[in-house]
Parts: sequence; structure tokens; C-alpha cells
Amino acid sequence: SDTAIKVVNPATGRLISAVEGWGAERVEAAVARARTASRAWALVPVAERAARAARLARALRERRGALASLVVAEMGKPVREAEGEVEKSALTAEYYARQGPAILADQHIEVDAAEAAWVSHEPLGLVLAVMPWNFPVWQVMRFAIPSLVAGNGVLLKHASNVTGSALALQDLFVAAGFPEHLVTALLIADREVPEVTARLIEDDRVAAVTLTGSDRAGAAVGSAAGRAAKKSVLELGGSDAFVVLDDADVGAAAAAAVKARFANSGQSCVCAKRFIVSASVADAFTSAFVAGVEALRVGDPREPDTQVGPLARDDLRAAIHRQVQDSVAAGARLLTGGRPLPGDGYFYEPTVLADTGPGMAAFDEETFGPLAALAVASDDEDAVRLANATAYGLGLSVWTADPARGVALARRVTSGAAFVNAIVASDPRLPFGGTKRSGYGRELAAAGIVEFTNTRTYWVG
Ligand code: NDP
Repeated sequence: SDTAIKVVNPATGRLISAVEGWGAERVEAAVARARTASRAWALVPVAERAARAARLARALRERRGALASLVVAEMGKPVREAEGEVEKSALTAEYYARQGPAILADQHIEVDAAEAAWVSHEPLGLVLAVMPWNFPVWQVMRFAIPSLVAGNGVLLKHASNVTGSALALQDLFVAAGFPEHLVTALLIADREVPEVTARLIEDDRVAAVTLTGSDRAGAAVGSAAGRAAKKSVLELGGSDAFVVLDDADVGAAAAAAVKARFANSGQSCVCAKRFIVSASVADAFTSAFVAGVEALRVGDPREPDTQVGPLARDDLRAAIHRQVQDSVAAGARLLTGGRPLPGDGYFYEPTVLADTGPGMAAFDEETFGPLAALAVASDDEDAVRLANATAYGLGLSVWTADPARGVALARRVTSGAAFVNAIVASDPRLPFGGTKRSGYGRELAAAGIVEFTNTRTYWVG
């Protein structure tokens, strides 16, 4: 029926599953149960909540192979990367199992007029999480683990094309000892998603919302949260600059650039998307980079040596192809790739465009696939100008023999993270999030667990 949620294997174009989207009554029953579960969970001591996170790490590792296969089948990433995503989720569960209680502990403050005063981080309640398909396990875990350790419940509206992963994660939380219904996967038919999420955000039983995804979906959820005067965290797209200065080790930078752009088949918010290269090293960088791109093994994502799989959906492949064609029409030079690969899957050739800049789709828009845009900078000043010439502000990577010069340049570019001589990546010990159209709020580290708590003041006179 037209309210079925269909999942198609992007490597083959074949239907994997079709489940019926829930009607209003089923959503209502799920919210009621989740609310009850989250109220009880808020009363569980933090040490006990953290202990479940440690069990979750073990459960993730026990099911690593099965989860990875499911992710590969549903969204097509290379199997090694799918296993890596599960392991990173387990490490994050261990991080919050160890650090959560200390971060959430009451903080006593000296105030002369009070007998005692302290700050406490209390649960908010039930949080709606709207999540994307690009890291079906990790995106959910990096939000859910800290939120659960903080004492909240989770309503998960996962992306439609990873519905099997959503249900597998719901089971996993129960297997790890979290109470039933504390994490609830909501099955909502595509066309009802905007309306149902907006209604949930208004619901008194839902305390807050977080979304990872496009800026379009983020704006929809953020405005619904604004209307309801509720807390929201938005982790949206990126168009990260990868800046290569004239003193950089060009070989190392080019090898890193290939990884930074083509990880997850190019479908990550922190993939490097715009390569801004100093004029004096532009030729050397470009030839090494193109050689690296042409050597990538594209193919069956189930094969352990595959480096680039299909795009997750046919419409996403069409979007990348449109960006390539528009950019070429606007004057970009195609150095390699540029075509969909024949066959039933949604494969696209790893593609490099040179001579890109503001005014071109590959430079101005988020490119969510195997497409790199190169631009030449005349000096550091010009590199700063080009790096900032984007609506987004998630990550930045700078390559130079002089780390102080790299940090100085990074300070002049707006982003949520700056990496010098390293690829931008999230790490559970460090906060992660965006500026500008890349969103607001932070995930991971202490910032990510405090984000969905009530920072409460106590004063005892
Ligand atoms: P979306 O932003 O549409 O999907 C992300 C999540 O938001 C999904 O669960 C989706 O549900 C949901 N959603 C979509 N529209 C609304 C809405 N109006 N209200 C509430 N929830 C909504 O991304 P797409 O999958 O369409 O990808 C499009 C582009 O978004 C990509 O090409 C990329 O540029 C960017 N993107 C960025 C990601 C990131 O990591 N920052 C991740 C994914 C995409 P459903 O699947 O049911 O439609």
C-alpha cells in the first residue's frame, strides 16, 4: 500500500522489506508506553544506568557481524566500514559507562548566603530523535547512549530506508538490559513524517527533539520545536574545506584527501567536500589525488576489500549527477568520473572536478556522494576566503608543515571543529557539532550528555 515503508538494497535495486507505517492509534500507544518507561528510568541511579551502557558495548560487539550485514544490505556502505561503525558505537558506550556518572555528578558551589548550593543534571524526559541512514547504527548510538545514561527515554524516528536497522537497534537495547519501550522505534510512512514529527514535538509528553540530516528537514523540526518552545539539537549537513598550504607534505595530504572524501562512499556530513589547494602545490596535489581516486575499488559492499559502494538511494545518485553536470556547465573541469555506473545498483563513479568555486553546485551545495571539488588559492588569505565561502560550518582540515600556521588559519574559518594534519572525525571524548547552516548544539563528550539534561540549581538556606 502507499503507507508501506519500503527498503531497497541499493547495490542491487531489489526490495528487501516492506512494513506498514503506523496509524495514529499505534503511535499514541507507543508514546504512552515510552513515557511510562522514561519516568521509571529517570529514578534509576546513574551508576545503574551507566552499567547498562557497559552491557550495551558488549551486546554491540556480540552482534557486530549481523548488524553490519543489515546496514550493508539496507544502505550499501562497504562492510568494513559498517563493522567500524558498530565498534565505534561500542567504544562510545564504554566511554559514557565510565565517564557519564562523573560528568553528571552534582557540582557544589560556595555561596555565602546559603547553607549549601549545588548544580545537578536531571533527566528531561522523553526525547524524539529523527535520524538519518548514512550511519544507521552510529547516528542513533551517539545520541541515544548519553541521553539514556542521563536518564531520558528515546523515541526513534529513523530514516525509512534503514527500518530493519531501527528495529534491530530497538532489540539490542532490550538485550543489553534497558527496559522495554525505553527506546521505541516509530514506523512512520514517508509522506506522513513531517506531520507526525511536528505533532510529536508539540506533545506534552515529548520534552525535546534532536535531528541529524539535511538542513531542509532540520529547519522543519527546528521550527516545530520553536513553536512549541522546546529544546532542539540539529546536526545538519556540511561542506567541509580541506585546505592544503604551500608547505604541506603533498603526498600525505593527497592520500588523506582520498580517505576524507570517499569514506562512507562520500555520504558523511564531515566528509571533506571542497579541496582548497595553494597554487604552488596545486598540480602535484591534483595528480596524486586523482591517481588515488582512480585506484579506489568500487563494487559489492559485502566484499571486505571494497572501498566505495553504491549511493544509498537512486534519488541521491541523481542529485550527485545533477551537481556534477551543473558544475561542468558553469565552467568546472571534469578530471575523472562523472557518470552513473551501469547496472541495477545505484553506483556512481568516483569523481573529481577542478576549477570549482562559489556559484557552482559542487562548491555551494552539500555534495553527499563520491564527488570532490578542487579550487586553487593564491595565498593563505585567499584560502580563508574560499573556506568560508559556504553556508555550512561543520568541520575544517588544514595541511601544513607548520601546525601553528594551520591553527592560525583555522581560527579565521568558521566551523564546529578544526583539524590540522588530520582528517575530521568524531571522537566520543570530544564535542561534535556545527555552526552556520550545519546546525546547533553538541553531541558526544561532556557537552553531548549535558545537552539533554535539566541543569538545575539547588539552594538550601
Ligand atoms: P533527510 O534530512 O530528508 O532525512 C533525515 C531524517 O529526517 C530521516 O529520518 C527523514 O525521514 C527525516 N525527515 C525528512 N524530512 C522531514 C521533515 N520534514 N520533518 C521531520 N523529519 C523529516 O535526508 P535525505 O535522506 O533526504 O538526504 C538528503 C540530503 O540530506 C543528503 O543528500 C545530504 O545532503 C543531507 N544529509 C545529511 C546527513 C548528515 O549526516 N548530516 C545525513 C543524511 C542526509 P524519512 O527517511 O522517512 O524521509
